[in-house]
Amino acid sequence: MRASAHGGRAEVLALDRRHAWHPYASHDDWESDPDALVLTAASGTRFRDADGRWLLDGNASWWTAVLGHRHPRLVAALERQLATMPHVPFAGITHEPAARLASELVAVAPAGLTRVFYSDDGSTALEVAVKMAVQCHAQRGEPRRRRFVALEGAFHGDTVGAASLGGVEVFRRPYASVLFDCLQVPLGAGGHDRSFDALGKLMDQVGHEVAAVVLEPVLQGAAGMRQYEPALVHRARELTRRAGALLVLDEVFTGFGRTGTFWAAEQAGVTPDLLCTAKALGGGMLPFAATLATEDVFRAFRGGRDRAFFHGHTFCGNPLGAAVAREVLAVFREERVLEGVPRRTAMIEGALLPLGELPGVREVRCVGMVGAVELEGQGYLDSIGWRVYREALARGAYLRPLGNVVYLAPRIDVPEEDLAELLDVLVTSVRAVLTP
Ligand SMILES: *Cc1c(COP(=O)(O)O)cnc(C)c1O
Repeated sequence: MRASAHGGRAEVLALDRRHAWHPYASHDDWESDPDALVLTAASGTRFRDADGRWLLDGNASWWTAVLGHRHPRLVAALERQLATMPHVPFAGITHEPAARLASELVAVAPAGLTRVFYSDDGSTALEVAVKMAVQCHAQRGEPRRRRFVALEGAFHGDTVGAASLGGVEVFRRPYASVLFDCLQVPLGAGGHDRSFDALGKLMDQVGHEVAAVVLEPVLQGAAGMRQYEPALVHRARELTRRAGALLVLDEVFTGFGRTGTFWAAEQAGVTPDLLCTAKALGGGMLPFAATLATEDVFRAFRGGRDRAFFHGHTFCGNPLGAAVAREVLAVFREERVLEGVPRRTAMIEGALLPLGELPGVREVRCVGMVGAVELEGQGYLDSIGWRVYREALARGAYLRPLGNVVYLAPRIDVPEEDLAELLDVLVTSVRAVLTP
């Protein structure tokens, strides 16, 4: 058995390195990486590599497995749906999972969001929001509102529309020539307060041309876990309302309890015109996404056939994804998942805040179920975070960095003993790299 397990690793890696192409990867690094992970199973807070080692999953598999891997209730829901109807189109057809999920999402969403448009992943949820915003204004008689505003450092996905909104310079640069124009609000040394002052000025000047302001509320994830005051989201709501522009909140990362409340928007007491959700919505099992809209936005699409929203992905409303998403919502409700967050936030703060004293640490940031340590370094392409990554891997945890930012964003219901172990690995790994 052991020999075949080892042979399995080598064979899978060889095939992969010959033909597969990885996201966000330098293949020169990947192909020479002695620690390249080959995984064979995932369960709860951990996954298992081909050598039989169980590793702690420090980021819930790119922020998706918010109830852990293979939660028994999600597996059962998926199997039940698989046994009856895995897929049918959502064009001119409906079915119980998608119809019930729509009403259940509306029930948990900020009050006033009443319509649910399905797509596949975070990027498509944002594409939908962009096209809805433009068409909504045009059909209300304001076709000149077609500019978008987003924050520097924002991440809204990788498709061309979503990347146009993005403000992570390294991710934009190669494609800049084909991205549409998006006004970036700078994140200067003054922090987010200053940025929202700048947003106010910008809206005074060009607000009448703006289709939508797009924000990750309270916490900018891929930017390096940069948090800001909920009051600023509130301010953006007032600025957009006054200018007649839409507010799009991208809760692809922040939704499902990541910042402590179910949606980050709740902390600001704000209802956006459009809200995007994905990642956690699919329970860490399936790609599944939704863009929620107010009745006001939806109303602009009523009337003749030419006023329809001309958008629909082949797998939108997929019954398997919808069935799993319904079960994710049910588990959050019935297992009172959010009630366990404050204790865990306190554990994260208790373990990570002292690292702020270490030379080489620029800042420690904790919010909800996220703890991040920004090291001295040059942003996303810096290798310092990867040195911590290797130390952590040797100690049994997968802690993929965002350049010079090392962070954990585990499942929201992570057992406290797993969280303690994960924190211990993170802290000792950072210390190992920073202290000679
Ligand atoms: C990951 C992410 C996206 C893109 O989601 P994909 O599923 O990767 O397309 C969009 N917005 C935010 C805030 C994200 O974190």
